Amino acid sequence: MDPERARLLRRLPAVDELLRDPRLAPYLPGLSRSQAAEVVRQVLTEARRRLLTAPRESLPPDLEAEELARQVCRALAGARTPSLRRVLNATGVIIHTNLGRSLLADSAQEAVAQAALSYSNLEYNLAEGRRGSRHDHLEAVLTSLTGAQAALVVNNNAAAVLLSLTALAAGREVIISRGQLVEIGGSFRMPDIMAASGAILREVGTTNKTYIKDYEQAITGNTALLLKVHPSNFRLLGFTREVSLEDLVALGRRYGLPVMEDLGSGCLVDLSGYGVEKEPTVQETVAAGPDLVMFSGDKLLGGPQAGIILGRAEMVQRLRQHPLTRALRPDKLTLAGLEATLLLYLDQSRAVAAIPTLAMITRPVEEVARDARRLARSLRRRCPAYSVKVVPCLGRVGGGALPQVGLLSAALALDLPPLAPHQLEARLRRASPPVIARLERDRLLLDLRTLTPRDQATLLQVLESLAASVDTWEGRG
Ligand SMILES: *Cc1c(COP(=O)(O)O)cnc(C)c1O
Repeated sequence: MDPERARLLRRLPAVDELLRDPRLAPYLPGLSRSQAAEVVRQVLTEARRRLLTAPRESLPPDLEAEELARQVCRALAGARTPSLRRVLNATGVIIHTNLGRSLLADSAQEAVAQAALSYSNLEYNLAEGRRGSRHDHLEAVLTSLTGAQAALVVNNNAAAVLLSLTALAAGREVIISRGQLVEIGGSFRMPDIMAASGAILREVGTTNKTYIKDYEQAITGNTALLLKVHPSNFRLLGFTREVSLEDLVALGRRYGLPVMEDLGSGCLVDLSGYGVEKEPTVQETVAAGPDLVMFSGDKLLGGPQAGIILGRAEMVQRLRQHPLTRALRPDKLTLAGLEATLLLYLDQSRAVAAIPTLAMITRPVEEVARDARRLARSLRRRCPAYSVKVVPCLGRVGGGALPQVGLLSAALALDLPPLAPHQLEARLRRASPPVIARLERDRLLLDLRTLTPRDQATLLQVLESLAASVDTWEGRG
């Protein structure tokens, strides 16, 4: 090894020595000594690696002790920063699966906080002073909202499908149309869930067309269930045919077979009144008479992650008693947030105003554009380094709901010379809090539809400090 490199390596301090550096003191409370030592060790290992691999001509003249201490401070602070953090969703995708799907309504947030803060009657029957069931709390509101006989809530919709298939069809055949063997984002594949449940997949029809006679011809003594699945994130267009739920229910009745529909998103409000494509509501689906219907709590419903199962009383009872239900049961925070969300639906117009997912979907584009213009004005005043334009754009509902619907929206098209749009995108993503933007035709867009008023205020601060940190000479030469 060249002597210069060896000398620099020898100058690296020992872990203990570095830990005594007074510059670190403010970052040490809250970490045990061994945790802090581990962080310091990692930074030193990385520094050693850099010194060993750097080209000779770029070695520093001496140990950069100041920089080393700064790196340790940053790493110590990072050790206590949660990995799961707030981000600003400027993508315009409302039910963004990667960004946590739905935001909770105020009353749902309060219910979650209350459940976290105090003991509750989660599994206690207050009237009779004995053990109760967590599954009882939401059944009344769910049945009264949807017209179903009975209801059961589990962890998510994937769990709802898994439980139902296991309880009703393990070791037996489930008939499903080829056109509905879907994969939903985040690795939910109908054939895989079915295999995990022990049910045997019996696909009928062709990719684009399935008729009622296809189902009927596939029925054997080993058939357990007729299944319909909402195609969620894709649509077959053109020469297509699927069997209606009504016809499938009629077929099931004739053969004494249960019929189940996985609705996916599951909306309790007819959004076509707000200029959004018509989707069958949960109420309409229940009225068609299937034995079981299931959907997510955090998609169009706008609540916490959950899987909601509705159906005929004896079917739901079978699910309740299945051992898997114990493994898939929701926790009290979920139940609290979901119940508060459902209570809002007792008045539909209140639900649309108070549930962020529905409010964002139904918000008139003029209002979004007004927000965009106001934000652009503030930004021009406070950070002239940006060039900013308000442009029309298309957002999306997301979460597998209404995939064809582009939501007319408004965005800031942002430029911060000399950064290229993809560099600005990366800077925003690493900001605090991170801002997730959209790159479209080499333009950086911040869609205002998915930014709450609180988010917009934060965004302005993030943009300000980002501009201040960008050396205007960066990227030149
Ligand atoms: C989203 C979806 C699921 C999975 O629901 P999670 O709540 O994410 O588990 C299952 N089926 C369909 C049709 C879906 O759209």
